[in-house]
Amino acid sequence: MTDKESKNKKKTPRINPVKLLAWYDRHARVLPWRAPIGKRADPYHVWLSEIMLQQTTVTAVAPYFIKFLGRWPTLADLAAASLDEVFQMWAGLGYYRRARGLHACAQTLVKEYDGVFPSSEDDLLKLSGIGPYTAAAIAAIAFDQRANVVDGNVERVMARLYNVETPLPKAKKEIKEHAAQNLPTLRYGDYAQALMDLGATVCTPRNPKCAVCPWQAVCQARILGCAEDLPVRLKAKPKPKRYATAFVLRDSKGRVLLRQRPPEGLLASMMEVPSTPWQEGKGLVWEAARRYAPIQGAWTLLSGNVYHTFTHFDLELCVAVASGAGRVKGKWVKQADWETEALPSVMKKILVFAEKEMRIRK
Ligand code: SF4
Repeated sequence: MTDKESKNKKKTPRINPVKLLAWYDRHARVLPWRAPIGKRADPYHVWLSEIMLQQTTVTAVAPYFIKFLGRWPTLADLAAASLDEVFQMWAGLGYYRRARGLHACAQTLVKEYDGVFPSSEDDLLKLSGIGPYTAAAIAAIAFDQRANVVDGNVERVMARLYNVETPLPKAKKEIKEHAAQNLPTLRYGDYAQALMDLGATVCTPRNPKCAVCPWQAVCQARILGCAEDLPVRLKAKPKPKRYATAFVLRDSKGRVLLRQRPPEGLLASMMEVPSTPWQEGKGLVWEAARRYAPIQGAWTLLSGNVYHTFTHFDLELCVAVASGAGRVKGKWVKQADWETEALPSVMKKILVFAEKEMRIRK
């Protein structure tokens, strides 16, 4: 160990996990997937909620979780559903790869594990759609295993407690090590959830409520007055932009034409509004774009655009509308059924935009 490392080691504050557990006993959030304190959570509930919560907020996930459990109360029920049904229920939650992984994982668990979740992180990691974070969360919360559960909330808390100035994502390893050294000797599941709750309700990105934090006395960032500056993040590179024209075709009954996307790639197997390819650089000029329309007819190009952000690129869409039918590939769907189709958010945005513009024009 170098002199600098040994000096830093001495400075490492002693964090008492029991203080956090005592705080959790009084302030734990009530969440639909959470068991009451002292009771073991159902692994199916923990797994389902953790997959849904990846890149999505608790507020957005709660109604979906309740809806899923209402439709598929057990793992076996979910495994017996078709992928299309799962997509339909998932529509609006985004990141649809998760829905595919969820369904595949449910089927594997039923076929190869007799419908019983393994309890160790290593075995959980072998399952589709379960990465290191989710494996640790299930092991800790559903099986009370000693597991180091580090999500974005926990990263923030640890970065502040230990004044970690290395920018993320480089700091991940260091933060994980800090989190590991704080693990309690019992109540691993409660501790994991307590840390998440502390990050979500007290050690928030802006205006952390240090005055009510159970670790305020030992928190380096609070002492140094730099809590809001941590964790440091490298500036994200600007995303590339893609352009396309979407074609909203309505028949005489007011239904719109949708079609299924290819089984591989972005939004695989989901429903979509027909469009030109999504290409970088400039979008196609209208004369070239209209060649991709589902019918050749009297299309009206609407003024204004639809914008959507994906993980790796931004999308800007022009929208054209027309009435007609004829021999077209796809499915006619009435507005009342949009909710039950596996329609990603971007497609809903296009449909809502077209409906609004058409109403204004009438
Ligand atoms: Fe976060 Fe403040 Fe608690 Fe430190 S004292 S962990 S900055 S809430």
